[in-house]
Amino acid sequence: MDGTVNVAADAEPACCAICGRRVPPGYRLRGGETRCWRHVVQHPAVWRRSLATAAIVGTILTTINQGNFILSHGFSHEILLKMGLTYCVPFCVSTSGALGAARIRTRQ
Ligand SMILES: [Zn+2]
Repeated sequence: MDGTVNVAADAEPACCAICGRRVPPGYRLRGGETRCWRHVVQHPAVWRRSLATAAIVGTILTTINQGNFILSHGFSHEILLKMGLTYCVPFCVSTSGALGAARIRTRQ
């Protein structure tokens, strides 16, 4: 069991339990109520996991890609911008992974 929820393709479209927006087929976190993608992304558990992933992976990538330059030249505006973007990538990947895992699948 992977936690994926399957619903029939002709099932009545569900609504987000928070905002009421119709969300065919919608998202569901750990068997909870159906939500729209906006309220899945705003869920505190998704934020915590995405921020932790960004902190770990972003630090590793920054060290690999910019470590030598930072040690020899310090933090320039260009490096700070690159570091910010480097931390954004794993955050976005983790968040989109959470969305994909929470998506309710339709079966034909
Ligand atoms: Zn919603």
